[in-house]
Amino acid sequence: MIITLPSQNLNTNDLNIKDGVLYLSQSQSYQNVIYRLTYFMKGRHYCYYCKKRIPRNEITMDHMYPRSLGGPTIPENLIPACRDCNCRKSDMTHEQFRTLMSLDASDRPSYINKIHALKEGYRKIGMFQIPSDWVTPVKVDRIHTNVDFANISNSKYEKVKHFYETYGNFQYPIVIDRKEHSLDGFYVLFVAKSLDIQFIPAVVLDNVEMR
Ligand SMILES: [Zn+2]
Repeated sequence: MIITLPSQNLNTNDLNIKDGVLYLSQSQSYQNVIYRLTYFMKGRHYCYYCKKRIPRNEITMDHMYPRSLGGPTIPENLIPACRDCNCRKSDMTHEQFRTLMSLDASDRPSYINKIHALKEGYRKIGMFQIPSDWVTPVKVDRIHTNVDFANISNSKYEKVKHFYETYGNFQYPIVIDRKEHSLDGFYVLFVAKSLDIQFIPAVVLDNVEMR
């Protein structure tokens, strides 16, 4: 997929966008760069949910489709939100949260129960709750990473593995660049290798390149 980037070329200490392609260096944190870009494009003084103005240093970044439902860290899936909204939204999708907020307080608990049942239903059939055209299966042995298996967090690894063993699918897709270099969600790759899985769900960013 092509992610939204500022239309002009940018070349600063931490951002390099040239002719519609975002170039990253190995030393950069992918998430930090994407957050910066998203704030650059969407502002950082306003909550997209409650529409309140907020001080710049109190803004948070919300995953519209949360990571726990498969939501990747890409500008399409991020919006600035106040701490309060972000916290109340928790692991709901942005649509679910907006629906919840439109309901009378007395109707909210049953709606929350429905959301939980829906989440479990999606997981049992091995699906993410994100737009399906974001994800594509990619062959594990084509993906490369500069993350060293020896240095990863064992508890995160076990969590991803446990989710796979419970539901037969990964909780979220890996995010890779146009040369199939892992950018985010690399635990999926390590678990797939350990379980000898050949294809994993991936969000392939066709206008991002790590070099
Ligand atoms: Zn808010």
